[in-house]
Amino acid sequence: MSSQGDAGADDLQVAKARRDELEVALARVRARVADACTSAGRPVEDVTLVVVTKTYPVGDLAALADLGVADVGEAREQELRDKRARLDVPGLRWHVVGRLQRNKARSVGRLAEVVHSVDDERLVGRLSDGAAESGRVVGCFVQLSLDQDPTRGGVPEDRLVALADAVAAAEHLRLLGVMAVAPMGADPDAAFTRLRQISAVLASRHPGATAVSAGMSGDLEQAVAHGATHLRVGAAVLGSRPALL
Ligand SMILES: *Cc1c(COP(=O)(O)O)cnc(C)c1O
Repeated sequence: MSSQGDAGADDLQVAKARRDELEVALARVRARVADACTSAGRPVEDVTLVVVTKTYPVGDLAALADLGVADVGEAREQELRDKRARLDVPGLRWHVVGRLQRNKARSVGRLAEVVHSVDDERLVGRLSDGAAESGRVVGCFVQLSLDQDPTRGGVPEDRLVALADAVAAAEHLRLLGVMAVAPMGADPDAAFTRLRQISAVLASRHPGATAVSAGMSGDLEQAVAHGATHLRVGAAVLGSRPALL
């Protein structure tokens, strides 16, 4: 294929300095994960690093994919759709970590391999329909709210099992486990301890649903210590985002 006249390909190139920066930061995060696994006596293969690329340009994703990143995370349906259309890397898994809007859930089901933020039963049918349209099964985490703040997403503990049952029953969804964000300003150890207890309850009801999505740039060590299988790391790899979504 000729690159001439290949409109849109330019933005898949990043400056060498940026690529080097990403390479160094990624190596640093991978080393943190490896150290945390060693301390916890867990094999590093147990932990999937999802690099959260929301708000960063598609060129950064191309560079990361080239550096061996297999899992990327986006927060918004439109950004996911745009980036996926421009970056065709076979085998790259697209995760959605942000709050889902009901009217975008079907599209997310079509586009994502894994959704970490299922927090409403009304999303389930739409996600499953979207997954069916692209002929796939989409992996889902049910998001637990640990801070009683409805704006940050997640279901309260007393609604988690019903939500998980609904996901497990959906034809084109697979229940992977639980996800949570540690409450701001609180002790992440306490949050992840709670999450692990709830994960055990869920896994006793749904034996396949043992995954735990927890841990971000600032608390990945604690998350690994408490059994996280999926880390969602943005800023530590890509630099701090200019603005919150
Ligand atoms: C943005 C985001 C992350 C990544 O956070 P960092 O602090 O940049 O590592 C993880 N999880 C969720 C739900 C997010 O929205």
